[in-house]
Parts: sequence; structure tokens; C-alpha cells
Amino acid sequence: MIVTTPAIILSTLRYGETSKIVRLATPEHGVLSVMAKGASRPRSRFGASLQVLSVGQAHVLLSRRRDLHTLTGFELAALPVKLTEDVARFSAATAMAELVIAVSGAEPNPVVFSTLVEEVASIEGSAPGDVPPAALRAIWRLIAVLGFAPTLDACVIDGRSLPAGTAVAFGASEGGVVCDGCAKGRDVTRLPAEARADLHRLMHHAAPLPALDPLHAAAHRRLLARYVRIHVAEGARLPALEFWETQGRERR
Ligand SMILES: [Zn+2]
Repeated sequence: MIVTTPAIILSTLRYGETSKIVRLATPEHGVLSVMAKGASRPRSRFGASLQVLSVGQAHVLLSRRRDLHTLTGFELAALPVKLTEDVARFSAATAMAELVIAVSGAEPNPVVFSTLVEEVASIEGSAPGDVPPAALRAIWRLIAVLGFAPTLDACVIDGRSLPAGTAVAFGASEGGVVCDGCAKGRDVTRLPAEARADLHRLMHHAAPLPALDPLHAAAHRRLLARYVRIHVAEGARLPALEFWETQGRERR
């Protein structure tokens, strides 16, 4: 069966002399692995369209017997040109693609697909000074639609309410904020009131993006990456996330 589907490219891998194995996110078929025969040939029918984060319409011959399908065509809607020129934008967007590969399967998930496409575009389109908070917001939103949103308003263990405007402990393994009583003996990150408010703003789309200086942006990246490693990806290796987490460190 051949299906035509909107798709965004999550990863590409050279296969043999002339082909590529491409991972696609789609709304109705989840994450698909497809073989693009001849894609590495100089005059391939795919041209230069099969790049990570390219968006388009994929024509896929679905295999009934195996998990590797065949890509018969890809009509490009958008090449990620502006993304690939900027390491901060590109590393955040590839970290999102990597997360979708790690967590999503072949089940339909239109919301994950549309969130990924929208948030990659918002990272691409954000003003240069806004890239660090825009990237944090984009990745937190993806985490939420993947089903792993952290709890921020009440202790994730006993439900005790934790009034806004106060410092709080954040437990990556626990999945959100924890009260002082529950924090005892647990490996938690202390969030001063301001960092907690910034985290809140990052996770609420209607709120203005917080202004984060480089040190605070780096602290938020560490918190997010730790949360993902422990709570979301459960030990999967995430080199793109790691790169995004540490980028900028050597520039200071
Ligand atoms: Zn508690």
C-alpha cells in the first residue's frame, strides 16, 4: 500500500553506496523508518530534500512484513536553511527530533507531529536574543505532548499545594516539584522563586518568554536535560540533547 503523508525528517543514515535510511515523523503513521533507494546518488530524484528537519509530503510504500518501508518520493515544503546556519537553533531542533525518535512509536500521533513542526518553525523564526528561552519552551512543550509534563503547582508525591512566588524543590525522577517534607532524602534541584517563575513562563504558551541571561539559560537547559534523561528517556542515549545542553559553555 502506498500512502502520501505530511512528514518531517528526524534522521538520515547512509546505507550502502547509494541509499539512505530515513526516519520520518508523520501524523497518522507515527515514526516510520524508510529506505530511500539511490538517495546518495548525485542525480537522485530526491535531490537535496532528504535533510534532517526538512518538511514535506512523503510517499511511502508500506511493508506489511517489516518495520523498514520504502520512500518512493518526497515533495519538499520547507528546507531548514536558517536552522542549519545557527548552532543554537539547530541543536535545539535536532534534540527535539531525537526525543521523538526515542519516545514515539508507529502509533498515530497527530499532536506530536504538529507540535514538532510548529516548534521547529518557532525556533527557526525567533529573534536572535530569544533563541535560548524559545528553545526551552519548544522542548518543554514537546515533552508535554509526549505525555511527560512535569507537575509544577503541587507536590508530585503527596499533592500538598506549593504557593507560587516561593522557592521549591524539583525532583527529576519524581516528575515535578516536591514539598520540603517529601524532598528529604531525595535527589532534588532547588529552584529559587524566580527560577520557578521562569520555568512556569517557559511552560505556558500565553506567557511572555522570560529573559534569561546565559547563566540562567544554562541552568534551565541542565534542568530540562536531566528531567528528560531520568524521567522521559529512561537511560536512552541522547547525544543531540547533550550537545544542546552544553552548547555555549565554551563561549563564556
Ligand atoms: Zn510532598
